[in-house]
Amino acid sequence: MALKTTPAPASTAATSAGPKLSAKAERFTESVIREMTRLALKHGAVNLSQGFPDFPAPAEIKDAAKAAIDADINQYAITWGAKKFRDAIAANFERFQGVAVDPEREITVCCGSTEAMLSAMMAIINPGDETVVFEPFYENYGPDAILSGATPRFVKLHPPDWTFDPDELAAAFGPRTKAIILNTPNNPTGKVFERAELETIRNLCVKWNCFAITDEIYEHMLYDGARHISLATLEGMRDRTITINALSKTYSVTGWRVGWAIAAPAVTAAIRKVHDFVTVGAAAPLQEAGALALQMPASYYETLAREYLVRRDRLLGILTGAGFRCFKPHGAYYIMTDISAFGFPDDVAFAKYLVTEIGVAAVPGSSFYRDPAEGRHHLRFTFCKKESTFQAAAARLAKLTR
Ligand code: GLN
Repeated sequence: MALKTTPAPASTAATSAGPKLSAKAERFTESVIREMTRLALKHGAVNLSQGFPDFPAPAEIKDAAKAAIDADINQYAITWGAKKFRDAIAANFERFQGVAVDPEREITVCCGSTEAMLSAMMAIINPGDETVVFEPFYENYGPDAILSGATPRFVKLHPPDWTFDPDELAAAFGPRTKAIILNTPNNPTGKVFERAELETIRNLCVKWNCFAITDEIYEHMLYDGARHISLATLEGMRDRTITINALSKTYSVTGWRVGWAIAAPAVTAAIRKVHDFVTVGAAAPLQEAGALALQMPASYYETLAREYLVRRDRLLGILTGAGFRCFKPHGAYYIMTDISAFGFPDDVAFAKYLVTEIGVAAVPGSSFYRDPAEGRHHLRFTFCKKESTFQAAAARLAKLTR
């Protein structure tokens, strides 16, 4: 699991004789999601754990990256992002969400949404600040809170529909709240937050005068008529929302590490300073290719959603057939499952068995909860995979017995 339930004592040392390590870094483990990918490789398992496509990225985007390198766009871009790319980000946000932003003062290009999230948090968090985080949560948000110094207040999303109790949410806000972290469409649940839910969140942000940091990286993976609404579009939220997104998922280039944060000018100024000293900047030729990607025609996004719907239904069929209880996702590209039927002591034991004995890798549910016990009946599978991968997974999962 990403978070250790009991923080290590501050006196923890590298070795009994060596210098002390950071107490912050002692409070979380390496990513379980990425560890599952390493285990999949080690055991030759079909990898349905880490969310990265195993099919090719679009040819025109790859060609644009190659052309950019050949054209010698190989030195630092402007720290907060190449102008052409920021212009394309602004145009894309206006095109899909109708929000006009100033690319000169309201956008910071980062090394993936992961860096955008951490830079954003470092830019706004002071000692004593709290963040509200829906749980289950994408595992990065735990370490993000620790590294930036925020105290997370978790609010449950309740299965099967992953709804939240408005009173529970209201109780998590208070004078110390600096921000709510909102990931919609959601990883790992596949929930797509609806307007009424966003309005509840908005009302609390306005009441307590705090920020919202939204992770919208799955914005185009929507099923069953679900609509993605950026929190920044709601009245009163434009200037208090930090909207985070990336090329990774929409254009199947998770290894490029190009993402961005959109925020009001004063907030952006702070994010840019943090970003500058953490990474200097994101890869220049990939920003050039990103400008082209963001201008893809409507048909690109429609095809993307349609193909992901087919993949979702394919994996739902495989998992249900193998005995998993599935929580049907309406967005993103993960399926949360209930593994109670298999009778294993917990999610980690079952995930280990699956990867070593059955040959399929998935992510233990406990990586998405502060208290591992709460995720012990869950396993997360991803469906950003090609048909031959599904076939291999189906053949292996057929060996599972209940
Ligand atoms: N977001 C992806 C997932 O949840 C990839 C995680 C990562 O390795 N950054 O699987």
